[in-house]
Amino acid sequence: TSQRVINFGAGPSALPDSVLEDATKGLLNFDNTGIGIAEISHRSPEFTAYLASVEALIRQQLNVPSTHSILFTQGGGTGQFSAVVLNLLARHRLLYPDLREEERNLDYVLTGSWSLAAWKEGVRLGGGKVNVVADGRRGSEDGKTFDNVPGRDSFRFSENPALVYYCENETVNGVQFKHALSDGDSQEEKEEEEGMFPFHLLPKDQLVPLVGDYSSSFMSRSIPHLADHAVIYAGAQKNIGPAGLTILIVRNDCIVDVDTAAQLGAQPVPITLSYKTLAEGNSVYNTPPVLAIYISGLVLKRNAELGGVEYYERVNRRKAEMVYECLRLGEGKGVFKGYVKKGSESWMNVVFVVLGEGKEKEFLKGAEERGMVGIKGHRSVGGIRISLYNAITEEQTEKLVKYMREFVESQ
Ligand code: PMP
Repeated sequence: TSQRVINFGAGPSALPDSVLEDATKGLLNFDNTGIGIAEISHRSPEFTAYLASVEALIRQQLNVPSTHSILFTQGGGTGQFSAVVLNLLARHRLLYPDLREEERNLDYVLTGSWSLAAWKEGVRLGGGKVNVVADGRRGSEDGKTFDNVPGRDSFRFSENPALVYYCENETVNGVQFKHALSDGDSQEEKEEEEGMFPFHLLPKDQLVPLVGDYSSSFMSRSIPHLADHAVIYAGAQKNIGPAGLTILIVRNDCIVDVDTAAQLGAQPVPITLSYKTLAEGNSVYNTPPVLAIYISGLVLKRNAELGGVEYYERVNRRKAEMVYECLRLGEGKGVFKGYVKKGSESWMNVVFVVLGEGKEKEFLKGAEERGMVGIKGHRSVGGIRISLYNAITEEQTEKLVKYMREFVESQ
């Protein structure tokens, strides 16, 4: 492990050394079977028990109620851009078979490039109207940058939509919804706060088809209003494990008979995208990503030992505060410039630019020389992006901040 650098990459991302060391043992001999985890049958009793334990770890740490199922699949967040549309349109069809196509609205809250990508897939697959509930670009200075969570007054939900979609943390733009539980205030007090998802604007008298993309914040802190969500999903490759595993939390009324819905005119749902297939098959209808599930399970077990999401909530808040504080210092000296508005800054992905000709290259080079990599911004927006997922420790964050401070002072 001595040759390992500090990887602040946005995904796939760093995993704890101790987990990787354990994983190498499992690669040779999983659970005393004499068979490695990449070689064992996904239907073996040992793997079946392991999968159930991973589910239990998630249920326990996030307090997932019995109204919701935890499902494992592949296809990433992108696969779910399609799956949520198809499954929830099927649900809508079964609930309201007589509505016209154009009355089957899909509602999207746009706060960055991932929600925009999800919206595009909604346009491709949706039969009816695809409504933009709120658009962060409208609140930006140039009218085209995703740099904020839109003010709650601008949210316009449509009547009885088939889904309401939001992305909790925008990995590329560094925009995140504010966390209701993050500073000890009661949920009710926080309800009215700008920057939080306005759960209180949703109808209370029905099961709302609320979809949250938690790809880059899952397990980094608790999930506000988890029980009010229809679907929460996340690819594993940021906070939880290797790429290849997608984790879903689906409210049971959203696990519908997609074939009956198709007979009523809904689009057919590919078998591996159907939540009913996944649920009835205990997530092993077809071969799951066994190795990715295994390593994710090791991470989740370690999380539980450390104190679960409450532990990570405290640590991640401190990490983010450290980096933002240093960013503000650099802004004051005209060296850095953050571009996310106050109150919308992500705890997971801190984005900024280094001002001055050639300065960004210099900053990146200096970081690399000190064994810190993965901080180049997404190719679509440029700049710097520092990802502070769970596996990044406070000590590693301190090392980065120390370098940032030195850089500022040297300019
Ligand atoms: N949503 C978010 C918030 C993401 O960060 C990503 C990937 N970076 C995706 C969706 C797409 O996920 P995948 O690459 O697993 O399809």
